[in-house]
Amino acid sequence: MPRVKKIPQRICVGCQQTKGKRELIRIVRTPELEVVIDPTGKRSGRGAYLCRDPRCLEAALAGKHLQRALRVELPGEIIEDLKKLFQVK
Ligand SMILES: [Zn+2]
Repeated sequence: MPRVKKIPQRICVGCQQTKGKRELIRIVRTPELEVVIDPTGKRSGRGAYLCRDPRCLEAALAGKHLQRALRVELPGEIIEDLKKLFQVK
């Protein structure tokens, strides 16, 4: 039997669904307490995940789920960057 490779699963803070890590966008609070979007998934720090779906970003922002997951306020520029990335107006 071929060995099944386990894909790490993460929960989207927008829709609360579990998905493969590669389907999600990672947002990290770095040890310096900066909030950054982490396309490589390799930065250290506390991470939160979002589907590549504008509805998930909107739900996460509306419910302050990212703030809760990262335990920090989101700087306005990060919210702008996320909206650009997700093409949310
Ligand atoms: Zn989602």
